[in-house]
Parts: sequence; structure tokens; C-alpha cells
Amino acid sequence: MIASYSFAGLKPGPHLLVMGAVHGDELCGPRAIERVRAEIRDGRLPLECGRVTFVPVANPAAYAVRRRYVEKNLNRIFARHEAPSCEEERIATALCDVVDSCDYLLDIHSFHTPGVPFVFRDYTDATTVAFAENLGFPYVLSGWPELYGTEAASGLNMGDTVQYAHSQGKTAVLVECGQHEEEAAVALAEACIANALRHLGLVGGGAQVEAPREVRFSHVWVMPEQGGKLLRGWQNLDSVVAGEPLAQLADGTLLVAPRDGAMIMPKQDAVAGEEWFYFGETVVRA
Ligand SMILES: [Zn+2]
Repeated sequence: MIASYSFAGLKPGPHLLVMGAVHGDELCGPRAIERVRAEIRDGRLPLECGRVTFVPVANPAAYAVRRRYVEKNLNRIFARHEAPSCEEERIATALCDVVDSCDYLLDIHSFHTPGVPFVFRDYTDATTVAFAENLGFPYVLSGWPELYGTEAASGLNMGDTVQYAHSQGKTAVLVECGQHEEEAAVALAEACIANALRHLGLVGGGAQVEAPREVRFSHVWVMPEQGGKLLRGWQNLDSVVAGEPLAQLADGTLLVAPRDGAMIMPKQDAVAGEEWFYFGETVVRA
């Protein structure tokens, strides 16, 4: 069973879908959604038009055991499965109906390590760019689909919520709000939902947010069988310079920054075959 909650304004407008806990150990989204739901329900944030639907816990099976996923990563298999072989495939199929009904998707995530929060912006159309830039985040990360199109990452599957929504003509972004249970992350997620509602005109007041900085993904390193270690206690979006050693494989090989840019989403305890860390270059705007 998946719980969803909707509010409809009395005038026509866009339909925003907000999802939390696509990964079951990310408690930030459900907590932020509960706060905004209460604000709307109590009349503190009245919906003037359109519709908003909240799915606080998108993967209830994983959420029940506070794990990222039970059998398969929901954010890698997000599609309709005619003959689902596991719980996440059944969940993905059910959630596709919900996504199909919306115009905009805001998918709320959080991460294991402390670090700077950001918006994943996969697509470059003006509607997506404006949506991503008005959520109140300090960074926008772009270039993810191109990264996963490269040969280096060909062993990894796509199939995430944003890609599915985009394939159905929706505008969608994923936000990473900070460390799973930190109050700052929950507060940012809460502000982000309110900013999305304002940006789309569903609630009153103009969105007052600063323009984020953009970093474009260019490399991913997957933990190899032999193992390895990160060479510093990297935090998300730490700046690095060309040639700077980032990590070392068990056989001594150094992995270095290909150019000036930023370390993205380092995972100290990645297991073999899992995404270990990413590198991105800073996009300089004219
Ligand atoms: Zn996640």
C-alpha cells in the first residue's frame, strides 16, 4: 500500500507531485512533507489554485526497515513492470500512475554524509531550468544523463523517477537536501516544497531565492572488486584542482581529478560495483 494525499485549489492550475523516501533510509522527505501537509491543511499555506499531491513514503517496504531498498533500488527501476519480480517493481508500477497524473515532480532525497545540498537538473528546457533554480538550493548539478550515457558507466542502469517523468512529458527534478535526519536538511526540504508551490503559483507570494551555482557531472567512479579508499574525508561539492589525488585503489593506483572542479557525493563505505564518487566541473555563466 502506498499513501498519497492531495489538496486541490478552487481555480485551475498545475499539478505538483512531491515524493519522499524513494530510498527507505532517507527520512528527510517524509518529515518535510508532513510539515507542509499540516501547513496546507491548517490553512497556514492555503492553496489558491491547481493541485498538490504528496507521497511521503514512496518505498514503504524499505522505509519500514529503514533501508535504501529491499531488493532493487527503486530509483534505478522506475518504470511500469508488466510482470514485476520484486516489491520495488510492484511499487514502481503503482507510482507510475501517480506520476502520470502530475505536471511537475519534486523528488526529495537526502544523503549519508554531511555536505552541501543541491538540485539534480537532468534536462535543459526552460521550464525545468526555471523550476530547478527557484527551489532555494545553493547548487544545481547538471549533466547526469550525459554521464550515464558514457561508456565508463554503461554497466549502471538508469530508470530513475525524473527520467520516467520526463518520458511522460512532465517537468521533474530530484533534490538532495543534506544528511538524512539533520534538522537543517528537513528545514531545507520544507522550504523547497514551499518554494515550488510559490514558483508554480499554487500559493501566494513570489519565490525569493538566490540563483544557484551550476556544476556539471563529468566522471563517475564505481568501487572496483579490489577495493580502495578515499584520500580525504571528502564532503559533497568540495572543490578540487586538476591532478589532485582523490582516492587510491588497493593496488596503489591513484585516482586524480581530471581538471578543476568538485568532488560529488563521495561514499566512504561503497561496496564493489556501487557508485563510489563523482567529479563535476563548474559551469561559468555568461
Ligand atoms: Zn536517495
